[in-house]
Amino acid sequence: MAGTAGQVIKCKAAVAWEAGKPLVIEEVEVAPPQAMEVRVKILYTSLCHTDVYFWEAKGQTPVFPRIFGHEAGGIVESVGEGVTDLAPGDHVLPVFTGECKECAHCKSAESNMCDLLRINTDRGVMINDGKTRFSINGKPIYHFVGTSTFSEYTVIHVGCLAKINPMAPLDKVCVLSCGISTGFGATVNVAKPLKGSTVAIFGLGAVGLAAAEGARVSGASRIIGVDLNASRFEEAKKFGCTEFLNPMDYKKPVQEVIAEMTNGGVDRSVECTGNIKAMISAFECVHDGWGVAVLVGVPHKDAEFKTHPMNLLNERTLKGTFFGNYKPRSDLPSVVEKYMNKELEVEKFITHSVPFSEINKAFEYMLKGEGLRCIIRMED
Ligand code: NAD
Ligand code: ZN
Repeated sequence: MAGTAGQVIKCKAAVAWEAGKPLVIEEVEVAPPQAMEVRVKILYTSLCHTDVYFWEAKGQTPVFPRIFGHEAGGIVESVGEGVTDLAPGDHVLPVFTGECKECAHCKSAESNMCDLLRINTDRGVMINDGKTRFSINGKPIYHFVGTSTFSEYTVIHVGCLAKINPMAPLDKVCVLSCGISTGFGATVNVAKPLKGSTVAIFGLGAVGLAAAEGARVSGASRIIGVDLNASRFEEAKKFGCTEFLNPMDYKKPVQEVIAEMTNGGVDRSVECTGNIKAMISAFECVHDGWGVAVLVGVPHKDAEFKTHPMNLLNERTLKGTFFGNYKPRSDLPSVVEKYMNKELEVEKFITHSVPFSEINKAFEYMLKGEGLRCIIRMED
């Protein structure tokens, strides 16, 4: 691998030329990593709904041409100046938000919102020089959330890479680099349900089901899954959901249905839909006095959260989280160890797998609401 260090690599990448148009596999040039950057050979990547929102660019800022992808696993090919804690051959998981280890957030035990490297969905360039590392015949191709994993090689800031156990199978643990850790962490690190409590999960995609799994391992006695797609309900039983609600089956708001089912509201709720109505319902369905709601879904850029202030005065708490409050470099390696120790299952989240050449199929599955995670294999 050292043979390519310091040189431009030509490789295949799936380029999104325009919003909503199928990705095109192109030969791209990937520049060597600059100071504090790392070039990574991606082996497996998967599709998360956040990629789809920014590719559709209906409710988000369009930045094109762009290479999407942020849930992945790979191996370090070469490192830039100043990188001391990663070396060629290390196994890594890229993360859409980073950890510089030096700012006030990184030093706080409560935050993972790093000042330098926190998620920025509208920036398509590297922070070092404000330029891209991808190009086609000299024309820049933009990055996505600092990861751009739909490419055989990509350049990532060292602060957005978690070094993991090299024994961990990358075709499985790649899903821990976003969705599963996000949902699981949203419950266990942020909502923190007590044993025997009642939890509502809005949105039963991979993120929501990981949140349900977090409620199950926390000892919740009732886990109410809410989704508009009833085909998710059967699957959700495997993740601990005990009851299901489709808001479309009721004339009244789903928060009222939940309040009736639970004698005043659930103890905790976790929203994993990205839909503003679901976010408001997720807040209003928690019990007064102690209920906590956690927002995880990425909203439309113009969305506004509206509720009566009395809902808060009545001692309900509203929170939000990125990446389940895990610090990417410090905490993600131990989430991978949970998988290695069989304390956390990831196989049940992986419902499809396609070769890189068929990456557009992964988008079709997600748009149809079919399955949970589709692994994209870069090497065959
Ligand atoms: P997904 O598409 O697989 O699942 C979303 C589910 O929500 C679907 O089953 C859909 O039917 C359901 N849904 C949509 N609108 C609904 C509504 N009004 N009421 C009830 N259910 C509804 O997506 P995913 O990959 O699991 O991601 C879920 C959300 O989490 C997305 O918004 C994604 O952008 C976001 N996300 C956030 C973070 C973070 O760090 N905060 C990280 C990853 C993903
Ligand atoms: Zn920081």
